[in-house]
Amino acid sequence: MKVIETDGIVLKTMDFKENDSILTFLTPEAGKIAGVLHGGKSTRSGNSAKTELFVTNHLEFSIKTGAELVRIRKCELLVSHAQIRQNYSKFLHACYLSELLLFCEIPVVESEDYFNLLKRTISQLSEFDNCAEIKLNFEMQLLKLLGISPSLISCTVCENFLWKRNSGELMSTKYSIPYQLDAIQGGIRCPDCCINSTYTVALHPGSLSFLYNSQSGRKNGFKIKPTQNNLKELDQALNLYFSHFFGRNLKSYSLLKDNSWKN
Ligand SMILES: [Zn+2]
Repeated sequence: MKVIETDGIVLKTMDFKENDSILTFLTPEAGKIAGVLHGGKSTRSGNSAKTELFVTNHLEFSIKTGAELVRIRKCELLVSHAQIRQNYSKFLHACYLSELLLFCEIPVVESEDYFNLLKRTISQLSEFDNCAEIKLNFEMQLLKLLGISPSLISCTVCENFLWKRNSGELMSTKYSIPYQLDAIQGGIRCPDCCINSTYTVALHPGSLSFLYNSQSGRKNGFKIKPTQNNLKELDQALNLYFSHFFGRNLKSYSLLKDNSWKN
């Protein structure tokens, strides 16, 4: 039996028996783990605050080889992030992030990267109101961790270079008409190679340039602000991309969409 002491962010909570909860945590030491928190449903035990979604707890648990659940030996509330659960839009965004992470296979050796990404993003959602931009940043970094960032250099079909050479730091696309993100090819179709299909989604030049420039900007230490239209297009495009990668739709996305893009 192995005993681990670490922090864990609650990704999922499920009622178990009369008073207990089964919690799924993301930890920096052991990836995703699930275990029973006794008294998780009882306010008297003081444990119910530790079962709220997106709180960070300090945990001690033991792992038995072959067992599905770990045994939680100690669980102390570290950060509550109550603001997220008090604001519907923040809450829906956090639910979407956690659903993405529940679908990911997270190797133990990479746990810390995933944990830090979630920890950073939860703090941002709790503190700031630009939820759509925070979510997009999370998605782009998650794609990178999963090793499936779409290739943005040249067309995935004809292999033509997609960009005009600019004198400044920012690149702009060769054409001013829509391109497509192709979820099967993991790349971009130039306007000549666009097709009608369920696995491609249109990206206007502005959104494509934003995607490219913000990635290279992160490397070179500068930051670009997305427009509302960039956010809206990339929201749809990346949802399709993730759904295709995971082979299923994200349930939390339809709620998020109904809530985010009104008007
Ligand atoms: Zn092409």
